[in-house]
Parts: sequence; C-alpha cells; structure tokens
Amino acid sequence: MKIIPHGAAREVTGTCHEVQVGSKRILLDCGLFQGKRSEAAVKNAEFTFDPAKDIDAVVLSHAHMDHSGRIPLLYKNGFRKNVHCTYATKDLVEVMLMDSGYIHEKDEEYFCKHLAKSKMDCKGPLYTQQDAIDCMEVFQGENYENWFDVCEGVKAKFIEAGHIIGAAMVILEVTENGETKYVGFTGDLGRNMLPIIRDPSPMPPVDILICESTYGNRLHEDISTAVDHLKEVVVNTAKRGGKVLIPAFSLERTQEIIYDLHVLWDKKEIPGISIFVDSPLATKVTDVFMQHPECYDKDMYEQFLSKAHNPFQFSLVKYTASVEESKALNGTPGPIIIMAGSGMCEAGRIRHHLRNEIEDERNTILAVGYMANNTLGRRIVDPEITEVKIFDEMYQKRAEVVYINAYSGHADMNDLDNFVSDTEGIKKIILVHGEMESMQPFADRIKKSKNGVEIFMPEREEEIII
Ligand SMILES: [Zn+2]
Repeated sequence: MKIIPHGAAREVTGTCHEVQVGSKRILLDCGLFQGKRSEAAVKNAEFTFDPAKDIDAVVLSHAHMDHSGRIPLLYKNGFRKNVHCTYATKDLVEVMLMDSGYIHEKDEEYFCKHLAKSKMDCKGPLYTQQDAIDCMEVFQGENYENWFDVCEGVKAKFIEAGHIIGAAMVILEVTENGETKYVGFTGDLGRNMLPIIRDPSPMPPVDILICESTYGNRLHEDISTAVDHLKEVVVNTAKRGGKVLIPAFSLERTQEIIYDLHVLWDKKEIPGISIFVDSPLATKVTDVFMQHPECYDKDMYEQFLSKAHNPFQFSLVKYTASVEESKALNGTPGPIIIMAGSGMCEAGRIRHHLRNEIEDERNTILAVGYMANNTLGRRIVDPEITEVKIFDEMYQKRAEVVYINAYSGHADMNDLDNFVSDTEGIKKIILVHGEMESMQPFADRIKKSKNGVEIFMPEREEEIII
C-alpha cells in the first residue's frame, strides 16, 4: 500500500490523499486549493494523474470546498467511477458545488475584463455550474457506521466527525496479499458540544492514521461560552436601537447561530427583534439541514423535534430571497439582526450592509468565524485599524466590533491530543491539513505520548510506502 498526498500537505487547503492498493487507486477527498489567486489557480488546474483512467473511486469526508471542490473538474476530465459520501454530504455538495461553479464563472469573467494582460490568459472558468450539475451522477450516498465496497480489496465505513452536518471520518479496510490493515482518515475533526450535530465518534483501532492538524498549536474558547456571548451582543445592541451584522459562512455557522438565537428566544433571553438571513446560499443550505434529522444530536431532538418544532423556522427569522428585499434592509430601522455571507466579507451581500452600517455607533459587527489574513473581515476585527475600504471607498469603523471564536468547528490542540491518544493500534501517523508551525508541535507531543509510532509530515506528492 502507498499513500500520496496530492494536497493539504503542510497547508490547509486542497485535501486529496491517494491510497494505492495493488493496482487500485482511491482518492480520499478532492478539494480546492484556496488562497492567493495566481498560486491556487495553477494548483487547481492540474492533476498529477489521469482522472479518466487512473482513479477507481473517491471517498469524500464532507462538503466543504477545500475537500470536495475539485470533483466537478475530476468529472470534466473523464472520471466516471463512484464518489462515496454520507447522504447529507451528497445533498449539501450539490448546493455548494453549484455555487462554486457560479463563483468560478463570475471570477473568470471579472479576471478577463479587468485583470488579464492578454486574451491568452483567459482559459475559461475552472468549471461551470453545468459541470457541477453533471458530476452529481457519480455520487453515491452511504449510511454512517455501515461498511461498503469501494473497489477490489478495499471496504470503507463512515463515522461521525462532529465537524459540520454530514461530515465523516473514514475507515478503510485494506486487504493486500492476504493481509488486512485499517487506515483511518479524520477528514476535518470536529469538537464536542457544537450545536445541532453529534460529537465526534471515537476512532476504532487503526494501523495507519491520516490526521488533520489545523490547530495543532492552538486552543479554542470553550463552546459553552458562545451562546452567552451572543446573547450579550444582541441585548446590548437592541438597547441602543442598533443593528447586529453577522458575516457568516453559509454552511453550518449560519445554522448554528439561528439555532442558538432560537434557543435564546424560546427562553425569552433576547428581545423579539427580527432576524434576517440575507443569503440565498445559506437559505438553500438550511433546507438541506432540515432534510437530514438523522445527523442531529440529542439536544436537537429534546429541544425541537420532540415538540414538533422546526429549529430553523420561528416567528423572528426571515429568509430574504430577492435583491430588492436585501436592499430594503438598508431602510429598515433597528433593532434588527442581519446575517449574510460571505464569512470573511470578501464577497456577497454582507459588504453592502457593512457599507451602510459600519459608521453608525449604535450597530455591532459580530464576527463568528475565522478571518484570514488580507480579507476585509480581518481588517474589521483588527482593533488597530480604524477605517476600512469597502467597494473602493473608505469608511470609519464606528460600529462596535465583537469577535466570538468559540464556534470553531475544528478540534483544537487538546482535542487532537486526546483523539490520537485514545486511538489504539496506530503504527504510522501521517499529519496533513496544517501549516508546519501547527504540525511540528503536534508531532513533538505525539512523539512523547505514543512511543514507537512513526510520524510523517509529507510534502505534496511525497509517497509513503506502508
Ligand atoms: Zn471542513
């Protein structure tokens, strides 16, 4: 057996790990590289294998684009075998890939109009919405905790990852030359106690563990603090008659905030102010959430389903669809809450709301997700910066800015340490999906706690022979 990372090797995007068993070749995920446009475009455009001939199956951990976003390209290049994933992931991926196809089309249009030096640079979008629709025919839904055949000599099973709805860790049972080995792949490892979804399942004994390491050197705020913090922001802003603007990722974070606001409203801990979800993508994703109660945790059943209560629909929440409805929010007086994408404020309707509301000191901008370097979101949460550029104009940051980082969907360093120490049988551990600065300290801790385990931190295309 060989394992070759084609992405997410000493970086956090582009997850795609090949497992070779005899003549069979399987991909664990096939995600987009994100980050600087010019660098990501080169990495995204090329496969180091022939998708039509070389790959026998894809096993997909979850619907985030950095794990699933190159599947339409795989299909466009002739791949016609199965992509196995959970049922919820299959439905989510359909919505997310369509959106991704749209973004690639628009991005290319803008690039060719404003940035390209010559027509030669305009090679067409990476893939289109139509490519995203076409590739759905190869997706195969699977139940959690259920072994399925991947190809000759390889079976697989999904277990709960506790990261986003439908997310799974993958266990491969690999039989080669009469010998059976188990490979565990974390995908993105989640956390205990996140709203809506179940906690991560323990990993059964595996011989080889491919483990993410995003936060190998960082601790998160306790998730239990998030809802109190959210309440405080809503109550204080409402007292001032202001608007709470929440830039939120459409997948998972938006639904978690709606869920927490619903719980707070049921307990009458927040005032009855309107909550606008101003993102067509988030609305579509929320529909998928409603179709997959099999992924919900016990609290969700006790708080909502057992009372025939829909967690995502209640008297205060309104999903805006048209651009006119979105624009009308500008004239709607506070107190209100507006949630819109994109999460890092680089695109989407949130930019319009920020432009209209950032200079009003009654308002609050509530950041609930990671803001990468060089994004508008990062400049907004940076206390050193007092004015920001939105649509080419400078605006004073007069609104209050609050950052709640407790909602992170990723395991932190303690969670990762506990996960590895609780997993039995590991002989080799391959660290992926992390920058070196978070991977190295994680590796050092494993070395101390797991005597004799061989640790790898491969570069892209580096072959690990098992
Ligand atoms: Zn993820």
